[in-house]
Parts: sequence; structure tokens; C-alpha cells
Amino acid sequence: MGRVMKIVIFLGAPGSGKGTIAGRLAAADATLRHVSSGDLLRDAVKRQTPAGVSAEGYMKRGELVPDVIIGQMIGDYVSGMAGECTVLLDGFPRTVAQAEILDGVAGRCGAELVAVVLLEVADEIIVERIAGRRGCPKCGAGYHVKNIPPRAEGVCDICGSGLVVRKDDNIETVKNRLAVYKGQTVPLIDFYGARGLLRRVDGSGRIDDIVRMARHAWE
Ligand code: AMP
Repeated sequence: MGRVMKIVIFLGAPGSGKGTIAGRLAAADATLRHVSSGDLLRDAVKRQTPAGVSAEGYMKRGELVPDVIIGQMIGDYVSGMAGECTVLLDGFPRTVAQAEILDGVAGRCGAELVAVVLLEVADEIIVERIAGRRGCPKCGAGYHVKNIPPRAEGVCDICGSGLVVRKDDNIETVKNRLAVYKGQTVPLIDFYGARGLLRRVDGSGRIDDIVRMARHAWE
């Protein structure tokens, strides 16, 4: 009722910082909501919901989960959100078909797609970032052994849980995820460029600077 929702898409290779940047922005501003398709899927796998059971194998191999499964999940989640807010979509859409599903979801929710932030990072940096990535299995906080170290090694600053390496952050799966990004997700750059929505942001510098540039990209 009277709801005004905006959507900002975070686009970029695995390890380009989508989750880190969208997470920092949302933590600093209650009107911004970080929605990560990877987190929704990992949660569904953990709970072994029907969608989670279907998605698990694709994720282990570093392949994309079928568009209908993730499209339904994002559609349900976004249409269930209340209040005036800006959704920071991290990891969705990843194919042109998903972008079309998102147009449908936005139309039904009365939401407006205002910008697509493309985080640009060189391949060498991506590999180094993913190799050092650690996460908290309990609260979802993200770390990097060198770039974002926790205060005590291997322990989450926020909830004290032991940090883990994501199952799909091994070298073979990462190579596959990068190839999938180049083949299936990169076409979205032209897709949104043609609509005048694309904002390119250098994703290789200091986190605070990237956060600031990302925010300016849609304001
Ligand atoms: P992420 O946390 O964004 O790196 O996603 C982890 C894995 O979840 C990906 O490698 C895919 O298997 C799956 N996934 C996440 N988002 C999507 C999406 N939009 N479409 C298909 N698969 C996805």
C-alpha cells in the first residue's frame, strides 16, 4: 500500500565485491536492503527446501541454478518486502532471461529499476580475493584473510563463530564460475547499457572508496 520500491542491481564477476559493497551500504542506511541470491540459495540448501535440494548440485559445480528456480525465489522474496526501500540486488540477475523475470517482478511490485552498478575488477585480483575469502556460517559476515581480516584469526568479530571457506571457493569451481560469468552474465552489460542504466565502478581500490562510488552511481 503506497509502497515505493527502487531496485539497484550489483553486477560483477564472482569475487568482484558485490556482497561486500552492498552489505556495507545496507549496514549504514536502513532504507537500503541487501538481497543476495547466493545467500538465499545457501539458506535454502541448508534448510533442504525443495528449491534448495534442486539447487545444491549446480552450486557445487559452480554452474547457474535454473532461471525458474532462482527467479521464483527472488520474486517471492522481493514481493514480500514491506515499506519504502531500495533493494540492492547482489547476484541476480545473472542471465538475460533472469533480467526479463526481474522486469516482471518489478512491474508486479510497482518497483523501479534505477541503476545497474558494474564492479570492474581484473581476473588476477578476483582469484586472490576468492582464495582468501572466509565467511561466518552463523551470521553471514564476510572476511578476507589479508584484506578484511577478523580481529582474532578464524573467528567472526560479530558473533564469535568459527569462520569457514565456502564449498564453491575451490580453484576448479572458481574457474568454472568465472567462465559462466563471462559466457552467461556479461551479456547483461550491453542489455542494461542499452537502457542507459549501467554505471561502471572501479572495484579494485579501497572498500570505503568503492562504497562511496557505488552510492554515487545511482544518486
Ligand atoms: P554467489 O554467492 O552469488 O557467488 O552464488 C553462489 C552460487 O549460487 C552460484 O555459483 C550459482 O550456482 C548460484 N547462484 C547465485 N545466484 C544465482 C543466479 N542469479 N542464477 C543462478 N544461479 C545463482
